[in-house]
Amino acid sequence: MKISYLLAPLICVIVLAGCGRNTADSAEFSKAVFAMDTEMTLKAYGANSESAVNAAEREINRLDRLFDRGRDGSDINKVNAEGTAKVSSDTSALTETALDVCEATDGAFDITIAPVMDLWGFYTGEYQVPDDDELAKAMAKVDRAKVNVDGEVVSVKDGAKLDLGGIAKGYLSARIMEIFRENGVESGIVSLGGNVQALGLKPDGSKWRVAIQDPRETDMFIGSVSISDKAVITSGGYQRYFEDGGNIYHHIIDPSTGYPAESGLSSVSIISEDGATADGLSTALFVMGLDKGSDFWRAHNGFDVIFVTGDGEIYVTDGLSGVFESERKYTVIKR
Ligand code: ADP
Ligand code: MG
Repeated sequence: MKISYLLAPLICVIVLAGCGRNTADSAEFSKAVFAMDTEMTLKAYGANSESAVNAAEREINRLDRLFDRGRDGSDINKVNAEGTAKVSSDTSALTETALDVCEATDGAFDITIAPVMDLWGFYTGEYQVPDDDELAKAMAKVDRAKVNVDGEVVSVKDGAKLDLGGIAKGYLSARIMEIFRENGVESGIVSLGGNVQALGLKPDGSKWRVAIQDPRETDMFIGSVSISDKAVITSGGYQRYFEDGGNIYHHIIDPSTGYPAESGLSSVSIISEDGATADGLSTALFVMGLDKGSDFWRAHNGFDVIFVTGDGEIYVTDGLSGVFESERKYTVIKR
């Protein structure tokens, strides 16, 4: 069995450099951090940039220790092992936000996917195509209705187990924006394994330009978006996968089948002010595919979407007009 494992490349979404006038407040401090199995880069501007980035790094490590279900003593590990646990306010808040996304997407996003992820080996790295009986047993435990949040007590029942991997990085990037602000920074940007969130404007007063990776040729870009105070979060089957018998199996599971989603898409990017929700939705809309994902966008507010199909076609929701730039042909999705 040939196994390949790809971490999202360090700079799989790059921030395109722009030229502009620098002000006295443009002192830049940046740092690379490895956490949540991902290369992260943090960048802040202004007099407090260094202390803000260092505070953000501490927050990353604190939240990683809470959310990592593989770590003994983490909040999620305790909930999964004991069925119920008093957790930190971050864990209960994130679980609640995640359950809202599960509900809104009618289970295309499901944080109880853990037993199925484990069976495929995506968590351990010991990849395998599961046999049908085992998969059916694991699938019986996948049900968002088995999760309950009551204040800071999170519970699961009937063998359900939580996996916040589809939403934790979006929560984290949003928290880093808060930490930057609390530390007096008004301009900064972070990339957590290609998931980007930006605070304010660049020091020269222009918007941040975030490039969207070509999922089929990952050293190329399909275009860019110009943003301020927004997250740009991408899910793609190319980010983690293995091959077996000539088939490719990636890490975004369709909770209705237990198999990697085959929705005809190769990536989905969500652009929104709300990092955590954007992350959950990027995973969910990847599972839904172009038609259902477009209908979901039409029925909800607060975010925009870039879909790239398996054939390389690009579809962009019309809230991105004047925001998305590309030299390639693309189709605009209207309300
Ligand atoms: P990445 O973490 O690579 O940026 P995603 O945000 O799409 O990409 O998250 C994928 C992760 O989400 C998987 O590794 C797994 O932990 C979890 N996951 C996979 N399928 C689902 C699903 N249908 N609903 C919720 N979480 C999922
Ligand atoms: Mg996601």
